[in-house]
Formats: sequence, structure tokens, C-alpha cells
Amino acid sequence: MEASTPASTRWPVIAKDVTADTVTPNLLDYDRACATFSWDDERLALGGLPEGGVNIAYEAVDRHAKSERAGRDALRFVRADGSILSRSYAALADDSDRFASLLRSLGVQRGERVFSLLGRSPALYTAVLGTLKHGAVFCPLFSAFGPEPVRQRLELGAASVLVTTRTLYRRKVAALRSELPALRHVLLIDADGEPERDTLDLEALIAEAPPYGAIAAMQPEDMALLHFTSGTTGRPKGAVHVHDAVTAHYATGRFALDLHPDDVYWCTADPGWVTGTSYGIIAPLVHGVTTVVDEEDMDAERWYRILAEQKVTVWYTAPTALRMLMKAGAARAKAHDLSSLRFVASVGEPLNPEVVVWGQEAFGHPIHDNWWQTETGGIMISNYLSMDIRPGSMGRPLPGIEAAIVARDDTGAPVVRAGHVELVSDPDTMGELALRAGWPSMFRGYLNEEERYRKCFAGGWYLTGDLARRDEDGYYWFVGRGDDVIKSSGHLIGPFEVESSLMEHDAVAEAGVIGVPDSVAGEVVKAFVELKPGFEASDALRLDIIGFARKRLGAAVAPRELEFTPALPKTRSGKILRRLLKARALGLPEGDTSTLEAGR
Ligand code: AMP
Repeated sequence: MEASTPASTRWPVIAKDVTADTVTPNLLDYDRACATFSWDDERLALGGLPEGGVNIAYEAVDRHAKSERAGRDALRFVRADGSILSRSYAALADDSDRFASLLRSLGVQRGERVFSLLGRSPALYTAVLGTLKHGAVFCPLFSAFGPEPVRQRLELGAASVLVTTRTLYRRKVAALRSELPALRHVLLIDADGEPERDTLDLEALIAEAPPYGAIAAMQPEDMALLHFTSGTTGRPKGAVHVHDAVTAHYATGRFALDLHPDDVYWCTADPGWVTGTSYGIIAPLVHGVTTVVDEEDMDAERWYRILAEQKVTVWYTAPTALRMLMKAGAARAKAHDLSSLRFVASVGEPLNPEVVVWGQEAFGHPIHDNWWQTETGGIMISNYLSMDIRPGSMGRPLPGIEAAIVARDDTGAPVVRAGHVELVSDPDTMGELALRAGWPSMFRGYLNEEERYRKCFAGGWYLTGDLARRDEDGYYWFVGRGDDVIKSSGHLIGPFEVESSLMEHDAVAEAGVIGVPDSVAGEVVKAFVELKPGFEASDALRLDIIGFARKRLGAAVAPRELEFTPALPKTRSGKILRRLLKARALGLPEGDTSTLEAGR
């Protein structure tokens, strides 16, 4: 089968002007960095615990708390009312020590699981770091999950401790507590001296916690974090990550996010999603920068105010948020002083070329897309500050990461012969994106699902489940999740390129594209479209958008059907749930919807 011509290649390259940068990029010469890179050098740069062993929390906090950076703001929380709460590296070291000490006094052992069900509050950050210091395993859950997804994950992960709020406990856990015999302790962050039945008052216990002493010296392969994946295509899985992952957080923070010691950095992701932990907590702290945390949900005006008032220099956000800002118009951005901003990056979903370019208009910088997954634990493919950007491309693999495109057979399965995968060498040929196994932040298992884990690997490669192509200069282009790709009259169509073309129409704010069965073509493309403010759904507009897409994509690839929708179904981390669009369009069971954003 032949892949259709990607719409994204029509966008001109954004040439990099290095002289315009206010700091020297960490990665100046990509080829040289790849040729000289070694993970052992990165490990050496971090150094590990002075008395031997490794611990993510030491690299993130105590290493700085013992240095001249001790007094620098590690975390700067923007509270609901706009006030600021700052915690220095020294204070964060103390907070997390106390939390670790509390775990010890509760009898929590190394390797046991501590879960959080919290918004982006200071207690969450203390709990992550304190848990790691004690050698226990941390698993953050989205506070917006309903009772059943919470119960399911606490059970699957064998949670011994849960840190949450009174309201969340009452609404989501209390009634199901008897079904969770392994859950020994529930710590309420807002008990105010009066915990609920069978819960403990975190603040009171922390206040009297004795000093912790030496941080747990872990082995690099010891489990540190458990992340349930967003499950855009099926049942959530618990991806296991180890302490050595910090080596990758460090290297990728340096190369992909270009973190420098004086940066004020803001990652908008919630720690319930892997980005919010790897790059909202670990990577920036390891680099000793100041990290901004907004405790509230997204709001264009609030976000611009935070960027301006906090003088954010490096901003890591997501396509769904950027599309919402674009919908609100560049003038909103320009009304604020965003002159401190020097680098904007995005992850989580395909980033439409139009949004990459809009970044220049709104912020004076193009958006730098990068790609990774819960399973990869860290950024794998990226657009670097020093590189030309090809709008629509995810960029090039990180130094230390070997990526490839694996051929697929007619059923869509990767071609494996005698234990070897068949790699595609021709440029611009679509196949499954694969990564040579063995980087430090690679997941080490799906909890209790050995067979499912094993199936992700073939011939020494990790198969990502995403379809992509690589151009002749080594830039990778996302085509779609393997399961989302549409097969129409012999063409393989990636939903992303169709969605991106639809978004170029003046009236379209966002689009989700699926294949629906057709007796002649096998499948035809169906689009669901959210309109920009000021546009009304009508038959005339529907025809106009379809006509517009046909001109750009050709009749074989353009949507045959188009439906207007007030809100596309999305995961809480902002990914369009095409699986759900399809189930709804075809009247099929909706399957697992635990990660679905409320009201979608
Ligand atoms: P998760 O494990 O929930 O973070 O989801 C990972 C998936 O999100 C990837 O396998 C991709 O399908 C998608 N994804 C993440 N980043 C990008 C990106 N930059 N471009 C396209 N898709 C992305």
C-alpha cells in the first residue's frame, strides 16, 4: 500500500537564526552531539549519591540543596487567587525529607506503592520526592478521574498509601475502600486536625516527623515510578520506570528543552500524565532551574499573565492548549510582555504546522514539537533550538537514541523474519516507528502483564505502535497511531494530515478524523469539526470545508463526510480520542472511557 502525500510537507522550512538566541543552545552541532554521546557520560555528570547508589530525588533536590543553589526557587506555585508560593531547593529538601520520614514511621517499605490523587498542589511535589527518597514507588493519578478508574488503578498498582484531599477522598475513594485491602494509609492534605474515618492528617504528621537521615541508595534498575498510560486506544496499562531514568531526564532536559541554570521554566502538564512528572518535576529540578506550577486549569488570559509576570523563559505545553490559544487569537498574546520567553516546546499529540508557524506570530518563536510516550519515559525525537524547523515534523532522534521505521505487512503487523525486524531504508516511506531498546528511561515492564510487555519488542527494537516516516535528512513525520490509520481505496491515510489541512480553513478550530466502512473504498474519511467562535454550522459551510480539503488533499484523501461537533472527545492530557469518535459514529461499545475529559 502506498501512503498519501503528506500535506505537512507543503509548509516552508523555518530557518534557524542562531544569532537571535539570547543564550547559546546546549546542542549546537547535532551530528557531533550524536557521534560523541554516551549514557555513561551523562551518569557521570550527575554523579549519583555520594555514598554510592542512585536516587532520582537526590539528583533533583538534595544535590542542589547542598550547593550554592540552595536558596534558589525550585518550585513557584501560582495559586488560584494568583498569589505565589515559592519553595527553594533547601525548603523542598526539607519538605521531602519529612514526607520520607513519615513513610518510614508508617512502616512503608522500599518498593511499596504510594499513590496521589491531587491537583497540582505543593503536597503533590513533596510526596513524589519524599516517596522516592524513601525508596518507595510513586504513582500519580489525575484528580479528575472518577471512582472506578481510581479504584482500578489503586488495585492494579497494589497501593499501600494514598495522598489526597478530603473532598476527593469522600467522592472517589471512601465508598470503595473496603475493596482495597492493600491500601493501609490514606493521608489527607487538608484534614485540618480532623481527618475522616480511616484517614490520617498529613500536615500534623509531617510537622512532627523526625529527620530522615540518609536518602535510600537505590540501584539504577530499582523501580521508581509507575505511570498508567492515557489509553487512547484501549485499557490502561501500568508502565514501570526505574531510578536510572533520571539519566535520560537530565540529557533530554539539556538537549530537547535547552534548560540552562538561570531558566524560569513552565511545563503546563499535570503530573497525572507522564509529562507532568518527567518534565514538570524531575528534568527541571535536576537542572536546578525554577519551575512554575499553575494550580488552576487552562485559561488563555491567566496563562499569558503567568508567562509575563513570572518571566518564563522556557515553556513546555501541548498542541491542544496551543490550538485553544490560537482560537483566541494572537492579539491576546501580544497584549502581554512575553519578551522573556526564548523557547517554546510542545508534546502529546501531532502539532499541526499551522500552529508551529502561528507561534512565531504570537510569541516571536516557532513551536518546537517533540515526540515520546509513557513507555519511553522521556523525549525521544525533538526539534532542537539550534535546528531549522520543518513545520509538521517531530524532529530528529535525541543523541543516544536510535530510531528507525519498521516495514509493515498487509495486515499492518511489523515484518519480523527469524527474529529480525525489516527496517525501511527508503526516505518518506511509512512504517512503524521503532527505537533501539536500552535507553535509561525505557519502561521496564507493564505491571503484572509480562506478555503484553514482551510483545512490544522484536529483534532488539521497541515497537511504538505509532506510524511515521523519515525524510531524506532524517526528520521524522508522524502519520498516526497504528490503530487510527485509515485504509481507503488502497491509500493509507494518516488522520493527522487531514486534520491539519482542515485546520487551515478559516472556520475550523479543531478536527478529529476517522475511517468509516464503505462498500467500495473499504473505508472513507469522516471528519468531526469544532468551529471557531463566530462561525455557525450549516450545510453550506460543511460543503465549503469539504471542498477546501479536496483542493488541498485530493478527493481520495479528503473527508467524504463531515459532522460539526461542539467538543471533540479528548483524554485529560488533551489527545483526541479517535477510537471513541469511531465507536460513536458506528454505534459500537465505547470501551474504556476512564481517561475521557469531563463533558466530552
Ligand atoms: P502517552 O503515552 O499518553 O503520552 O501517549 C503517547 C502517544 O501520544 C504517542 O504514541 C503518540 O501517538 C502521541 N504523541 C505524543 N507526542 C506526539 C507528537 N509530538 N506528535 C504526534 N503524536 C504524539
